[in-house]
Amino acid sequence: MTSSYITTTIPYVNARPHLGFALELVQADVLARYRRDLNEQVRLQAGTDDNSLKNVLAAQAAGIGVQEFVDANAAAFLGLAEPLSLSIDDLIRTSSDPRHRAGVERLWRACAASGDLYRRHYEGLYCVGCEQFYPAAELAAGRCPEHGTVPDLVSEENWFFRLSRYAGRLRGLIADDTIRIQPAERRNEVLALIDAGLADFSVSRDVERARGWGIPVPDDPGQVIYVWWDALGNYLTALDYAVGGENLTRWWTGASRRIHLLGKGVLRFHAVYWPAMLLSAGEAVPTDIVIHGYLTENGRKISKSSGSPRAINTADPYDLAGRYGTDAVRWWLLREVPKGADADFTVDRLVARANDELANGFGNLVNRVVSLIHRYHDGLAPVATAHAPDDPALAAAIRDAPGLIAEALEDFDFRRATEAVWRIADAANRYVNRARPWDLAKAGDRAGLAAALSGLLRACQAAGEHLRPFLPDAAARITRQCTPDATGSLPCPVPLLPRISPPVRAGHGEQGA
Ligand SMILES: [Zn+2]
Repeated sequence: MTSSYITTTIPYVNARPHLGFALELVQADVLARYRRDLNEQVRLQAGTDDNSLKNVLAAQAAGIGVQEFVDANAAAFLGLAEPLSLSIDDLIRTSSDPRHRAGVERLWRACAASGDLYRRHYEGLYCVGCEQFYPAAELAAGRCPEHGTVPDLVSEENWFFRLSRYAGRLRGLIADDTIRIQPAERRNEVLALIDAGLADFSVSRDVERARGWGIPVPDDPGQVIYVWWDALGNYLTALDYAVGGENLTRWWTGASRRIHLLGKGVLRFHAVYWPAMLLSAGEAVPTDIVIHGYLTENGRKISKSSGSPRAINTADPYDLAGRYGTDAVRWWLLREVPKGADADFTVDRLVARANDELANGFGNLVNRVVSLIHRYHDGLAPVATAHAPDDPALAAAIRDAPGLIAEALEDFDFRRATEAVWRIADAANRYVNRARPWDLAKAGDRAGLAAALSGLLRACQAAGEHLRPFLPDAAARITRQCTPDATGSLPCPVPLLPRISPPVRAGHGEQGA
């Protein structure tokens, strides 16, 4: 049986989550739901990275204890499951989950046993925002390319990982698609990185510089394990790697697919460091590394640390789901963000997309069809005829949807996948206007009416079925509305996807109100 282990990255919890992370969660959730519907074994794994120095600095700035601070923010990340309707199977928190520390220690010892860890003095430029050293050549005018900040000069004795040793094997695994990196331009970027030469990288920090926060290096308590080493390890530690056993065999070693979803900023960690660590530890490498772009708001990357208070507010996934609904937020993320590329978010775009396609598209269709059946067919679901629907465009949209969705999701192209479902609603709404069931009823054409309504009901049912991985809530409502009871009657029509109102803006016309 096919089995898939699907992971999201574990975010730093130095602030509350933003919409960019919601994108990754929703994409992973769609893949998990889709594969479960195919009766595949799926484990959707997420969590939080609590052990970053960033968290320590943010807690100090906020004047509260580190554990208390990360607990509060971790709860805000893990709590996204409800407003976003996520079907996460397991969550791991790197600071508090007993599976994690023991697993990271085992990973460390496995790489040490392969002769891949050694101590040496090091001096380099470190960005705390990225939690990484930067070679001078990768800085933009002396500043971090991600954060625009001047990195710290750090000079200390650290443990290093012999990455250089794995360049050849890693290149081979990526070039022959044993590790499939999508989209293709990211794969080429990784190959170019490897070809430029892989230097060993520092995998520990002085315990003082880490402010005593993090996992101590086994047998060397003066050093703390580099937070990225620790964080990447979560993909294994969440499977009880520390003790080996059933979860590890089932979801890692024996899984058909090991799929990591991540943003482009952490590509090197996942596509170079992580597979090399796994090779060193004698574990299987991921089968798929899928990279998404960033969300921008008015052209600027939405991020926890760089946003103005207002920017954080408008792109807060809790706030958006609370105001506009889970379906609208998921639909925007899936429908408007191009594969692997950046997308600009505005509330107006979210509202417009939801009103055009959810309210006027799917919602209006189901409401019209069920109302027509109640008005002209006594509320009884028409018996499906062999050729229903007899409209070629609608029949094709229904027939082609499963194949198109499968192909698009295999390609991790969520926009193309949702397009295939949207086509059903679009074709069906056009068909209603053309077939004019109300005229067929007036003319007494019982057979024609039953055929038209049966085709339309079939379209609504297909929309409900195929929407399921993308909009689980809306899909359930559509399916309930379109499923006849034991007597063959459909429930009375209720609005399933009402129109939503655009945001009210302060400004002109409000003075004196
Ligand atoms: Zn940075």
